[in-house]
Amino acid sequence: MKSLGSIRRSFAPWADPAAKPYISFENITKRFGDFTAVNNLSLDIYEREFFALLGASGCGKSTLLRMLAGFEEPTSGRILLDGQDLRGIPPYRRPVNMMFQSYALFPHMSVEQNIAFGLKQDGMPKAQIAERVAEMLKLVKLEQFARRKPHQLSGGQRQRVALARSVAKRPKVLLLDEPLGALDKKLREETQFELMDLQQNLGLTFVVVTHDQEEAMTMADRIAILDKGEVMQVATPAEIYEAPASRFVAGFVGTVNLLEGRVMSRDGATLRIKGASGAEILVENAPDSVSSGEVAFAIRPEKIKVSPRQPAEGTPNVMAGEIFDLAYLGDMTVYHVRLADGQVVKASALNSARVSEDQLTWNDRAFVSFAPDAGVVLTR
Ligand code: ATP
Repeated sequence: MKSLGSIRRSFAPWADPAAKPYISFENITKRFGDFTAVNNLSLDIYEREFFALLGASGCGKSTLLRMLAGFEEPTSGRILLDGQDLRGIPPYRRPVNMMFQSYALFPHMSVEQNIAFGLKQDGMPKAQIAERVAEMLKLVKLEQFARRKPHQLSGGQRQRVALARSVAKRPKVLLLDEPLGALDKKLREETQFELMDLQQNLGLTFVVVTHDQEEAMTMADRIAILDKGEVMQVATPAEIYEAPASRFVAGFVGTVNLLEGRVMSRDGATLRIKGASGAEILVENAPDSVSSGEVAFAIRPEKIKVSPRQPAEGTPNVMAGEIFDLAYLGDMTVYHVRLADGQVVKASALNSARVSEDQLTWNDRAFVSFAPDAGVVLTR
């Protein structure tokens, strides 16, 4: 059997020009009175994709999900699902199911009754319901809890009942609004992997709303970063992290150093940037579109080396500073280095040896350096 990893690695319909999107938001605007919650947004999601809408509170991600579910209609634009325009189709007639932030389980019903509820309403024959419920209980590993009531379950177990209930009707698309919001950190992490397995095993399309970047990075095939009702970038977690499209995206996901500067020259794909401090930054593999003007060089802390020793003469991208702050996290150490112009650069180093010769501490003079291809140039 193929491992999840090998299936996921080859899954990239968005990169195939012949692939047809399964869900399309086309120029969607949603206004509440004179407030615009979603602004002319277009987005494609593919069948069997685990897609995350990520953004700060109020950016419009739940509104987007609610429009797909049919609880809200767009003010303008259209939503297509498998080629069909969803306008005017009531929620219960859409091949979409939504799992809410609060799981909304029926407190007086047992686990199996909760799971069976929607199937009963649809008039499914009894024997078939029993079979489906058993299948769902097995899927979420709650067989021995079938007779319990929700208050006799832990938060994580309740979450799994809600999940089983929302997939029992075999919707084509499952919408999840902050699905793990009620769980503590450890349980969240475990449940993330369970959700990914479940999505794979059922072959469903998942659209999940979250404000938790780690959660989106862990689970999703692709992430849309939203801000004020607009899409800032849609890409795989690795692309979002390594090649953010703007200062906003770079700063939203993970920690980043933004070194502002001005382009001095371009030679092939190599740029020379004059940083605000006067230091020169040499960048390789710069995007074709950049040859002048104000830019930011964005570089992640783990791509910056900190050393008490000055690198050899002629080494590009070396800046001198002083250790201003330091956090020992066990597996790694995070250094805040104050450069000559006052800017603080964050660098992190893995503590792969128990004792290091290069121990640096507060107020030590230190050199930060990075490779010319270790970061990206941003114009937005
Ligand atoms: P959160 O993570 O806090 O749930 P969100 O990104 O999901 O945030 P939405 O719920 O989509 O945000 O709301 C987007 C904006 O639209 C918010 O400013 C919200 O106040 C507003 N809004 C949402 N629903 C309504 C409504 N029915 N009437 C008026 N304004 C609304």
